[in-house]
Amino acid sequence: MRRAGLVVWGAHEMAASMVRPGVTTGEIDRAIEAFFAKHGAVPLFKGVPGKVPFPAVCCTSVNDEVVHGIPGPRVLVAGDVVSIDTGCSVDGWCGDSAFTHGVGAIAPETQRLLDCTSGVLALAIELMAVRSRWSDVASEMAKYVRDHGFSVVENFVGHGIGRKMHEDPQVPNFCTPAFRKNHDFELEPGLVIAVEPMVNMGTKKVRALQDHWTQSTVDGLPSAHFEHTVAITETGPVVLTAAPAAGETVGSAA
Ligand code: MG
Ligand code: MG
Repeated sequence: MRRAGLVVWGAHEMAASMVRPGVTTGEIDRAIEAFFAKHGAVPLFKGVPGKVPFPAVCCTSVNDEVVHGIPGPRVLVAGDVVSIDTGCSVDGWCGDSAFTHGVGAIAPETQRLLDCTSGVLALAIELMAVRSRWSDVASEMAKYVRDHGFSVVENFVGHGIGRKMHEDPQVPNFCTPAFRKNHDFELEPGLVIAVEPMVNMGTKKVRALQDHWTQSTVDGLPSAHFEHTVAITETGPVVLTAAPAAGETVGSAA
């Protein structure tokens, strides 16, 4: 799974370097598709079943789009934010991660939204080392976002990941009594989950657009999304979609 994670990381590095005013989301998608092909990785997003099968290897969700945006002719302009989410498998094992980027200069409040969302993902990974149940991590994630004055999206959650991109358990970024009672899980060695907070500047409410995929905020305010694939090991959480460590390279047998 680390090998898949490294390719996902490399794809994101390349995509990040392309984000600027004037680029289209379709150009980013085609570059990621070529990157996966070059590294012998199988894209996981293309063909995901829905009312129409997902047509691209990544999701690009711009501004008020929360997740599942379809890459295409849309031209990014200064002041936009674009969430790029992608995943691949290498030798049958999956990796999945997402980042939100500012395009050119963005409004300070929008930057604060991005910082809060990447911050709450970092917090979750830290807490995975010192909490034994996901409900405790999720509760603190929700509090962190609330304390920043933003809202956690509740319609979409993270997931277990392994041979398939989406496996049990469901990994919410908030906690309810029903989750604690019926769906909570232990953070034990061997567990691998994709942790992916989606944070809205305004209402947590989202709606689907006409394309059957794109999810957008109901109030039109911006949204951000950060995701890592994280393994619990005997010595603590390991981010499988993190940058290469010394001696690791993208595409190597780590
Ligand atoms: Mg993802
Ligand atoms: Mg995911």
